[in-house]
Amino acid sequence: MSEEEKKLCDLCQLVVEISGLTLKTKTGEKHFCCEGCKGIYEMLNENDILPE
Ligand SMILES: [Zn+2]
Repeated sequence: MSEEEKKLCDLCQLVVEISGLTLKTKTGEKHFCCEGCKGIYEMLNENDILPE
């Protein structure tokens, strides 16, 4: 049985099925279900995004 922890997209709240779409922000690491959600979140919260 897999006990893999499912993360929810920080934009649309769907389950994140792929890894790698993350952003580091002032409030912690955010996870996204797709490039689109990541891009929109980035645009809406550009002041909170931390550089890699
Ligand atoms: Zn999403």
